[in-house]
Amino acid sequence: MTAVVIEDLTKYYGKFKALDGINLEIEEKEVFGFLGPNGAGKSTTLNIILGLIRPSSGKVVVCGIDVEEKPLEIRKRCGYLPENYGLYPHMTGRQNLHYFAEFYSMTGDEIRRRVEELLELVRLSDAADRKVAEYSRGMKQRLALAQALINDPEVIFLDEPTNGLDPQGAAEFREIVKKLNSDGKTVFFSSHVLAEVKEVCETIGIIHRGKIVAKGRIDELSSGVKIAVQTIPEPDEEVLKKFGRVSYDERFAGGSYIVEAEKDCRIEISKALIESGYVIRELHMMEPSLEEIYMSIVG
Ligand code: ATP
Repeated sequence: MTAVVIEDLTKYYGKFKALDGINLEIEEKEVFGFLGPNGAGKSTTLNIILGLIRPSSGKVVVCGIDVEEKPLEIRKRCGYLPENYGLYPHMTGRQNLHYFAEFYSMTGDEIRRRVEELLELVRLSDAADRKVAEYSRGMKQRLALAQALINDPEVIFLDEPTNGLDPQGAAEFREIVKKLNSDGKTVFFSSHVLAEVKEVCETIGIIHRGKIVAKGRIDELSSGVKIAVQTIPEPDEEVLKKFGRVSYDERFAGGSYIVEAEKDCRIEISKALIESGYVIRELHMMEPSLEEIYMSIVG
């Protein structure tokens, strides 16, 4: 089943259009990376998915439930780690989790078992009796994740969860996300850090100025190719222009013409060059990395 379906989602804040017709589908048990620069609309999308704010138009269905019709049902079945989570600093890690567990209909035994399981998952068992005020940023973030998992949710939404963590803290957090996924959870991971999304996510959606500008499996997202061409004598650009945008790059193999084509068309290019009387010295295809795609979209 599809865990999350977003159809034509639009959100206005006053006259400002923060989301502009978003469509996304997230399959069950996958880690989906929601990638975009600051202010792109990630938190707005998450808040609508969780029924915390209302969209201007469009529809969101999570675990088969329409969010506008049953927002409370969604919150029972989902976990959410917001950017600014709330923990009680004067209470210990364990006390915080017990406190939040009381909001759900669990027996005392269930609560105790769940809290210990979660402390172990987020690697805080040893620090469970220390006050949260003494925790590092990474420990607080992991405790907040445990809090978001109290109700054993099917889908977990994480809003920029590694923001402000040092590299080690961020890596530890990502390891826990991978573990959650291997335990069968669907994870929606919002971030503006491409490298970490690449590390933990199978599919991604890139949001920019309220629009989804790219989406799909990471390994399939590389759309378009660049073909470097060197000929004797130098080619007439008109011959190459039939295949895509043409530019000249001094840095590539001592200077090459670069054709930006939709797909590999080296055979067609070589035929056209030979028919026009050129000798081919170099015809080399380069597939853009996700970094190049992201930078070309987001700048
Ligand atoms: P960040 O990573 O900085 O949190 P984001 O991708 O989560 O960014 P949003 O917080 O969803 O982006 O904001 C999207 C746009 O909507 C931004 O231009 C923001 O200023 C604007 N915005 C967000 N919330 C409100 C609000 N309550 N009222 C008016 N404008 C808002």
